[in-house]
Amino acid sequence: MSETNGGVRRPVSRRTLLLGGTAAGLGAAGIAGYAARDELKHLWWRAPGAQQPREEGAVDHPGADWVAASGANYRRADRPYDYTVDRVVIHVVQGSYEDALKVFRDPGHQAAAHYVVRRDGHIAQTVRELDVAFHAGNRSYNERSVGIEHEGFVTRPEDFTDAMYRSSARLTAAICERYGMARDREHIVAHSEVPGTDHTDPGRHWDWDRYLELVRTVRITK
Ligand SMILES: [Zn+2]
Repeated sequence: MSETNGGVRRPVSRRTLLLGGTAAGLGAAGIAGYAARDELKHLWWRAPGAQQPREEGAVDHPGADWVAASGANYRRADRPYDYTVDRVVIHVVQGSYEDALKVFRDPGHQAAAHYVVRRDGHIAQTVRELDVAFHAGNRSYNERSVGIEHEGFVTRPEDFTDAMYRSSARLTAAICERYGMARDREHIVAHSEVPGTDHTDPGRHWDWDRYLELVRTVRITK
C-alpha cells in the first residue's frame, strides 16, 4: 500500500513551458473576447500547483463532509498539473463508513482513499483530489486516479444500496467531467483490476451495469 516519495515530479523545463504558455494567453486576451477568456481559464487549470487554492476544510465535491486523513496516508501533489488524472478506482471498505474514516486518520494505516460513501449516500472527502492518496496498492495508479471507498462488505450485496449507487455515480460523473475522462469501464475500474493488487473489491456483487448506467446519465451543471 505504501509508496516512497522519491520521484522528481516537477521538471523545470515543463514548468517554464507552461509559464510561457500563460504569458502568450495573456497577450491574446487583450485582443479577443470570450475565446481568450476560455483559453485563460484552461491555462489557469494547467498552471503550477502553487496557484491552486487549498483552503482548510475545502472539498472537491459539493456536499461532501471534509474528514481529513492522516498526512501519512497520502502524498501532497498538484494534480492534474503534475500527474494526469485518468482513472476512478472503486473500492469496498470491508467495514463501516466509520471504520474507514478511523483507519484513514491513523498514520500507521498507510492507506486512504479520496472519498468514502455511506450506505445512505452521504459522502466524506478524506484526501483532496490534488493529492496522491495511497489506495490502489500501485504507485502509478495512485498517481493517476481518484479512489472512492464504499461502506460495506464484498460478500453482502445488500450493503450496496440504491442511495449509495446514486450518490457515488454523481461523484464519479463529476470526477470524469473535471478531468475529461470518458464515463466508461476503461476509466472507472475496480480495485481488483489494478495491476499487482491482491484485493478483490468491490467484488462480484457490485452491479457495474447499473452503476455505469447511473454514471452516464448524471447531468453535470457548472
Ligand atoms: Zn480497495
